[in-house]
Amino acid sequence: MQQHQVPFKVALCGRPNVGKSSIFNRFCGRRKALVLDLPGVTRDVRIDRFHLKSKGHNHAIWIEMADLAGLEELHFLKKSRKSSSADLKTLAEEAALQYLNESDLVLLVIDGRSPLTPNDFEIYRFLKKAGKRIFIILSKIEGQRKKDALAEYAELAEEKIFLTSAEENEGFERIKEEIISFAERQKPQSKVNVIEESQKPLCIGIYGRPNTGKSTLVNSILGQDRMITSAVAGTTVDTIDTDFRIAEKAYRILDTAGIRRKSKTEAGVEVLSVVQALKSLQNVDVALLVIDGFEGIMDQDEKIAGELLKSGKPIVIVINKWDLCKVPRKDYADRVRETLRFLEFVPLVFLSAKENEGIEVLWDLFDEILRQRKVIAPTPELNRFVELLERSHHASGARVYYATQTHDNPPTITFMVNDPKKIHFDFERYLKNELRSRYGWMGSPIRLIFKARTRSKSKYTK
Ligand code: GDP
Repeated sequence: MQQHQVPFKVALCGRPNVGKSSIFNRFCGRRKALVLDLPGVTRDVRIDRFHLKSKGHNHAIWIEMADLAGLEELHFLKKSRKSSSADLKTLAEEAALQYLNESDLVLLVIDGRSPLTPNDFEIYRFLKKAGKRIFIILSKIEGQRKKDALAEYAELAEEKIFLTSAEENEGFERIKEEIISFAERQKPQSKVNVIEESQKPLCIGIYGRPNTGKSTLVNSILGQDRMITSAVAGTTVDTIDTDFRIAEKAYRILDTAGIRRKSKTEAGVEVLSVVQALKSLQNVDVALLVIDGFEGIMDQDEKIAGELLKSGKPIVIVINKWDLCKVPRKDYADRVRETLRFLEFVPLVFLSAKENEGIEVLWDLFDEILRQRKVIAPTPELNRFVELLERSHHASGARVYYATQTHDNPPTITFMVNDPKKIHFDFERYLKNELRSRYGWMGSPIRLIFKARTRSKSKYTK
């Protein structure tokens, strides 16, 4: 599992405007808008974690990449040379230096359209002195520039130099190959067997009361342009599971409650009970709750939502038949949130299964949900949070001594407290909100367990 895997840490450095962010985005793909603030690291360092793959390797590397924009603050890069080393470092600078210290490889980005500047060289010397292994990336090199670019950087000749254009997505395959080869040698623990990972399909379960459009949705998803790889008898109930691929990713739709079969044999003839469909929940990676957007949310929708919540599986709410709705999306969303308050952490997707509109967003959303699910709250950080709690929350006489994440699926935090009965609903809700604001876990229910600290231990407390 990724979260136990040791990431290979790559720091991206360079002076301002050399194109670090575009390069960062080329590495970690299209998820740039969803970048996660990893807990424990200051916001001045932009960090992402992802699998780095290349055409030439069967393996991927589990990478943590940081854009060390904070290094730009270093006084030797500033115009004024007056500042001395005794100056207080800025937070950004501190964070950047700390990250640099821990990194396994530095990518130094230099604007390939101009000759090496003294600032570039100073950063280079600084990194060298810190004993870092460096790959040089010459950025913004399009077309013609390639031929004579290298000659201008003779001072860096002892390093590996890569010519790239983030705009035209050129040159990155070679860097990826080299990073992977280097990481395999330096930190074999960061190796990930991607073949195995990508073969395991992401299982999608579709739930909802009759006639909300579940079978239409399945049919649209599995429409002509999907590569359907197999249809196999389901492992639970009598479902027909269908495997398919989108881009390189494998998915499986669990055809719960015979939703496809129903559409073949005439509507209404065999509406398998919702309860039976829910049995398949144990096998899904993500559960879609399909709502008839035209009719709105009914009691039965709420009941099914409650069952999904209990399962602990990540949830996405699909507001279907959006083609029939004239209400502004925001107003509609507010109403759904109001009715399904207990699912406030769940993303809403508005789509029309029949018109095949709005379905594509689901794939990126699943990726993001599963990525957030893998985030583990570090114990020291949880306990700094507990310390803060102790200072501010005593209304009900509840005392929290210690917290740790005891499970990741669903994210579960165990709190050692003086008396679980003193933990009121409001306090629990507050804890959940705080945890979500730190760790996200979008779409996933989280569980809090409160345990009384045993007597023998309590004598050590005040
Ligand atoms: P299921 O019982 O949840 O599987 O629902 P069906 O897929 O059989 O759909 C029930 C009815 O809603 C059918 O008449 C569909 O054509 C219709 N329907 C499904 N999705 C949409 C949609 O997005 N827009 C509209 N206008 N009708 C839809």
